[in-house]
Amino acid sequence: MGEQTRLYDLTYDRLVAWLAAHGEPAYRAKQIFHWLYVRRVRSLTEMTDLPKRLREALAAQFLLDDLTELARQTSRDGTVKLLLGLSDGHAVETVVMRHRYGNSVCVTTQVGCRIGCTFCASTLGGLKRNLTAGEIVAQVLHAQRLLDEEGARVSHIVVMGIGEPFENFDALVDFLNIVSDPRGLDIGERHITVSTSGIVPRIYDFADLGLKVRLAISLHAPTDELRSRLMPINKKYPLTDVMAAARYYVEKTRRRISFEYALFGGVNDRPEHARLLAERVRPIFALVNLIPFNPVPKRPYVRTPREDIVRFKRLLEEEGVVVTLRREHGTDIDAACGQLRARHHDQSFLPK
Ligand code: SAH
Repeated sequence: MGEQTRLYDLTYDRLVAWLAAHGEPAYRAKQIFHWLYVRRVRSLTEMTDLPKRLREALAAQFLLDDLTELARQTSRDGTVKLLLGLSDGHAVETVVMRHRYGNSVCVTTQVGCRIGCTFCASTLGGLKRNLTAGEIVAQVLHAQRLLDEEGARVSHIVVMGIGEPFENFDALVDFLNIVSDPRGLDIGERHITVSTSGIVPRIYDFADLGLKVRLAISLHAPTDELRSRLMPINKKYPLTDVMAAARYYVEKTRRRISFEYALFGGVNDRPEHARLLAERVRPIFALVNLIPFNPVPKRPYVRTPREDIVRFKRLLEEEGVVVTLRREHGTDIDAACGQLRARHHDQSFLPK
């Protein structure tokens, strides 16, 4: 990988520019996007309405390689967790989830992560490298091909797999551009959620792009002291700065924002945490998405008991906050982000 660009790395505009530089009309880009993302062919030779010389020029310049499926786990609720191999031997996780409103795919943006959240499996081995836009696109295509077998489509994307998307900003933006293109996969921006650990300068940059993408910020604590303990990134970008950036995003995009709040037993799940959290999020009308902690081997946290989760939710609601409780998908498989990959790399990482 590396030197050679993938066809999947190209936004529509960049493809048009490349074609123009090679004396080809812009409508060829439409044909190519159709073959790649609507017909979902796997080779240039299948693009039968392109002249042979163009197919050869494309082949000389671009790779058209799909990800290799290394492992697949299917849970009772239909969630499919995939371990997908990249061309340099690294592996990433992609998850397909079924909802009443459609099918979502959760994509990975980095091999590993350097943010270091103390409860997360994805960060255990550090960051290996960023994915290219095309490697993120290829995950959606892989999921779509899996759904093709049932005549279904990917309707939603959550950028919540391994990695911090805002540390791979340019590839993220190209990815969003490619998958939402109406000439290709056509997944509406409003159906895409990007989740960040709170990289403040990038939240401003993202807001300024004017996309209609939903932003989620991982909060997990209502005070700096507690948040820094759970998420060391908070020492660099403390809560006040995160909240100011969140407000900017809401004002600029007119989109509601959501805060993720994973509940760790006895750590951040007490009634006073709910009240402090409500004070933080109410001024910007943010949603709170509660996530029951998914136990990770080697991590020192426990789950909050069910009745305490319900109490926490009710307290937030009494304070006027709109709350959702994340429905858990695939709890009978390696559900939490990074667990399948971690186990693949480390045989001592035994199944539950
Ligand atoms: N890096 C991005 C997106 C990744 S994960 C971010 O930090 O937002 C999606 C959500 O799952 C984040 O809120 C993350 O903090 C949370 N998470 C990670 N490990 C978890 C675990 N074991 N149990 C519950 N939530 C977890």
